[in-house]
Amino acid sequence: MAQYPNIINGYSIKTTKTFEVKNPSTGKVVGEAPRASTKQLDAAVEAAARAFDSWSKVSDEERSKACHGVAEAIEQNADELSRLLTREQGKPLNGLGSRFEIGGAQAWAHFTADLQLPVEIIQDNEEGKVEMYRKPIGVVGSITPWNWPVLIAVWHIIPAIRSGNTVVIKPSPYTPLSTIRLVQIMNEVLPAGVVNCITGEDSLGAAMSTHKGIGKIIFTGSCNTGKKVMESAAHTLKRLTLELGGNDAGIVMEDADPKEIAEGLFWGAFINGGQTCAALKRLYVHDKIYDKVCKHLINFSKKMPMGDGLNEDNVLGPISNKMQYKKVDRLVKDAVKKGGRVLLGANPKKKGAGYFYPITLIGDVDHGIALVDEEQFGPALPIIRYKDIDKVIAKANDNPNGLGGSIWSKDIKAAKAAALKMECGTVWINKHGAIQPNAPFGGVKSSGIGVEFGKEGLAEYTDIQVIMS
Ligand code: NAD
Repeated sequence: MAQYPNIINGYSIKTTKTFEVKNPSTGKVVGEAPRASTKQLDAAVEAAARAFDSWSKVSDEERSKACHGVAEAIEQNADELSRLLTREQGKPLNGLGSRFEIGGAQAWAHFTADLQLPVEIIQDNEEGKVEMYRKPIGVVGSITPWNWPVLIAVWHIIPAIRSGNTVVIKPSPYTPLSTIRLVQIMNEVLPAGVVNCITGEDSLGAAMSTHKGIGKIIFTGSCNTGKKVMESAAHTLKRLTLELGGNDAGIVMEDADPKEIAEGLFWGAFINGGQTCAALKRLYVHDKIYDKVCKHLINFSKKMPMGDGLNEDNVLGPISNKMQYKKVDRLVKDAVKKGGRVLLGANPKKKGAGYFYPITLIGDVDHGIALVDEEQFGPALPIIRYKDIDKVIAKANDNPNGLGGSIWSKDIKAAKAAALKMECGTVWINKHGAIQPNAPFGGVKSSGIGVEFGKEGLAEYTDIQVIMS
């Protein structure tokens, strides 16, 4: 059995206590992860703090070069990382799966390496000079979820170190192994202590949120945990970026072409089996084309092969863990009990290992049931009928989340007008969930605080210092 270590100050350190990580496709153990103690957390924070002394003084050029070096190291190890990710998380190698995730990690690392936060001259006249500097914060604590563990780790780590901070990362206990390998690979090209990794239970994340040696927490996960992090970080006034849950609405206007949009709707909703923060989670379709949209979505969905992600033919994998499988099953059963019409799926096969749940489309539902009101985070999509565009936008906004949203129409002007009325961080037109490293991404309302990506995302890893002369 492969036993994975904590990575502290560049060293691989095994622990006596470990926990098993299981493949959600087969139920077989993939490896054992360390169950780090709070003493080991202290050691990781100390190592990061020591490394900060020198790393924060390294030239901007050198830090940029080092981040490119990390991107190249990920590329060199892409095959190993992709396979490990598929085995512990379940997503297929192919399609929008592990290879796509590792490719994204490289692309984001390269792009972020080239970002800069130069000194800004706010004023320079006879009354004086005002300069604004962006200085690194210190040790950044990164807490990540299980859905896109490698990509999200890179989203946290690279801007943090690019701007001169050092990092202690704690991945989700469901998917720690690919992050441990990622940090090992990073340590081959970075100075010791710049990026450290410890793994354990949720309580380790809580200990990071209160840790005096950590200056900022970058957290990606559920709204409930995000609120807890914010509460416990208050005592040390940590800087926070919170990337939380979404319940994204997609609105199909009456002029959309049902056949043309079926593929985009499918992948918008079912990328990573729906286990994506900014996946399409509530679909509102105009009454006039409702049946046609459902028909084309059903037809497209039926063609998508699901199974063990190591099989190159599959583009959909299992739900990543038992906890999430049970949640999706409960929400679907509840929706059906309350009058939802099963258009596809909904009855998982009981036999065999693996948390496979079929692509599920539930029609004739509305607000007031959990599948619509809550984030399902799995392969089940409620489809809601509407007649009036203004009323449906108000309805879509009537939710505590505000991560993403989408409008589907041939009339781009009308779609943009509708987009501006939506209460969310990103609105896509005729697509859903596409993200890119130059566009700030984050949620409003309960979906989070702050943004990632681009210059705005990089700036979140700094404190401002103004010098007036
Ligand atoms: P989660 O909140 O259960 O766990 C996230 C991380 O927090 C894990 O590492 C966990 O161990 C840790 N944690 C748990 N309790 C903690 C505590 N009290 N203090 C500190 N850390 C603690 O979320 P999850 O189930 O792993 O991920 C799914 C959620 O993440 C979904 O809601 C999804 O929408 C959201 N998500 C958001 C984004 C985004 O960018 N907005 C991206 C991906 C996922």
